[in-house]
Amino acid sequence: MNANDSQQAKVSTPLPTREGQGGGSLSILHQYFGFSSFRGIQQDIIESIGGGRDTLGLMPTGGGKSITFQVPALAMEGICLVVSPLIALMKDQVEHLRERGIKATAIYTGMTHDEILVALENCIFGNYKFLYVSPERLHSELFQAKLSHMRVSFITVDEAHCISQWGYDFRPSYTEIAQIRKLLPQVPVLALTATATPAVVDDIQRQLGFREPNVKCMSFVRANLSYAVERVVITKEQTVLELLQRHPGSAIVYTRSRIATYELASWLSAQGVSSTHFHAGLTHREKAERAAAWQRGDIRVMVATNAFGMGIDKPDVRCVIHYDIPDSPEAYFQEAGRAGRDGDRASAILLYDSHSVSVLKHRLEDTFPPVEYVAQVYEDVCCFLQLAMGDGRGVTREFALEQFCQSFRHFPVRAYNALQLLSRAGYIEWADAEENHSRVMMSCQRQDLYTFQLTSAMERVIHYLLRTCTGIFSDYAYIDEKEVAATLGMAEQTVSEQLVELSRRHILRFIPRKFVPYITFTQRRLEREEIVLPPAVYADRKREMAERVQTMIGYLLTPQCRSDYLVAYFGEKNAPPCGICDNCRSTAEALSSLSSEQMRDLRRRVLDYVAQHQVTSTTQIRIPDVSAPLLGALLHRMMLENELPTLLT
Ligand code: ADP
Ligand code: MG
Repeated sequence: MNANDSQQAKVSTPLPTREGQGGGSLSILHQYFGFSSFRGIQQDIIESIGGGRDTLGLMPTGGGKSITFQVPALAMEGICLVVSPLIALMKDQVEHLRERGIKATAIYTGMTHDEILVALENCIFGNYKFLYVSPERLHSELFQAKLSHMRVSFITVDEAHCISQWGYDFRPSYTEIAQIRKLLPQVPVLALTATATPAVVDDIQRQLGFREPNVKCMSFVRANLSYAVERVVITKEQTVLELLQRHPGSAIVYTRSRIATYELASWLSAQGVSSTHFHAGLTHREKAERAAAWQRGDIRVMVATNAFGMGIDKPDVRCVIHYDIPDSPEAYFQEAGRAGRDGDRASAILLYDSHSVSVLKHRLEDTFPPVEYVAQVYEDVCCFLQLAMGDGRGVTREFALEQFCQSFRHFPVRAYNALQLLSRAGYIEWADAEENHSRVMMSCQRQDLYTFQLTSAMERVIHYLLRTCTGIFSDYAYIDEKEVAATLGMAEQTVSEQLVELSRRHILRFIPRKFVPYITFTQRRLEREEIVLPPAVYADRKREMAERVQTMIGYLLTPQCRSDYLVAYFGEKNAPPCGICDNCRSTAEALSSLSSEQMRDLRRRVLDYVAQHQVTSTTQIRIPDVSAPLLGALLHRMMLENELPTLLT
């Protein structure tokens, strides 16, 4: 059955109940998502959470984690609460579910009280199956009051590593989830993540109050992905171009700066490689159009910041190139992992030049500037916003970072990170210009629409809304005025005016978007000396970042199999060498250059060495006059062929 058939089937078929787990799940997978079988450990996870057990599911990016909560939620009675860190991702999933005829909604920062109320009431009375919620909404009284009236099947915590201080993306608001669990003591929790070291795996279960440890884990080895580190010879641009010529097919090039995405994409296009660029600063429409053109294959290369990727799912990406080095193995693994989802051979290549190591170390210092500097930024912000000493608790002000940096001569990156630290330490709440959209909901009944005297412009706008926004009579839908305007051939201004007028006449409710970043002071203004950053906010996290940076430097320099190096970081020891990364290939070459006699001789010297020394690990074996990579390759081969039996790690 293809996806279209399954969508036809969905509407009239009642939801299966919890009986007949296995078969039930499979038919739901079929009906709603159009897939014929589960992948990897999906079914394990589904059975575990379906059986009411707290479960932590570890699957690499693109492994199909969403299915592991969406299928059991549809099989069970009640509503599934999904905590997710990214608003864009949340909207995306809600949209996808709605397209499949499944009732789903979301609440997050930036919605009005009225909108939130509508969404929550729907969850209580509307037979909804999914409520997505951003973690900072969890502690709101309104949410908690309404939650007590919902019948919750289970709680899903997506990107669950965000709950751990030791994770690479700790978000303090995630710790609220533990409180929610107390409100729903009988309700099991399903935590999902693609990136967790063994320490983080333990911490997630502890933080979420797992009744017993229960981890479902899939190997992170990607057998078709060949990792490589490429040394820049002439210029980085030139190197990227050559790599793209050597690796035909769809590609992503990740850079860290927005300007670089534009410059590199333009340069590549000028060299005849079709490219576009993408970063968080583009309009919603630009992003959607470029992603779609690349997805269709009309454009070959996407040059992007890390804003590109979440929710992107293109199976035939042949090559992911990193122009700059990411500062964590977690981020690198996720981004590199977007290559080769179809299972065919693909490459993940990291560029490296003589500055790379010092750049990485600098980044650590920029992310954690000295505490005195952070206190200085605090004081400057107070001055900038004209907040008197002792004043300010609960005060919210508009705050433009750029203007602030200009007035007080701060480097934006450092100032940005100082503000992050201040908000993590609880002195301020700071919302950067988070992307937000206009929203509409009809406030009349469908049949009443015909009773209004509407201008033709209004009629066209309404037709557009009815055609494109599902469920607009019961819930708010996002719209982009630019898009409406382009489709209808109107000016954007006109579209906005029509919406305002329709709203004035109570035909619909319209909430225009706002792009106002703000700062809220959670305490009175303090003296500079009173600003302290606890270890959990500063020292501990700085140390962890230093470790990650060190792991990335190690990745650049290791002579070992790169796939092994990465998966070992995630706790998978003793994986066999991949055989296809640059290191494996060059050692295989070196081995094949040996004559069989030399080979025999070398093996004998290794066995002699082992017999004569107390070795507990292959890394302790030393053979004079044999290069480290060659010896490494030989030892790997001997291990695989069980020639070093009683040893060794
Ligand atoms: P993750 O959250 O683990 O990164 P997603 O849940 O976004 O991954 O799924 C990645 C892709 O895999 C999606 O396009 C999804 O439709 C697809 N997918 C998931 N499960 C299956 C399955 N059982 N069979 C085929 N495709 C699947
Ligand atoms: Mg996901």
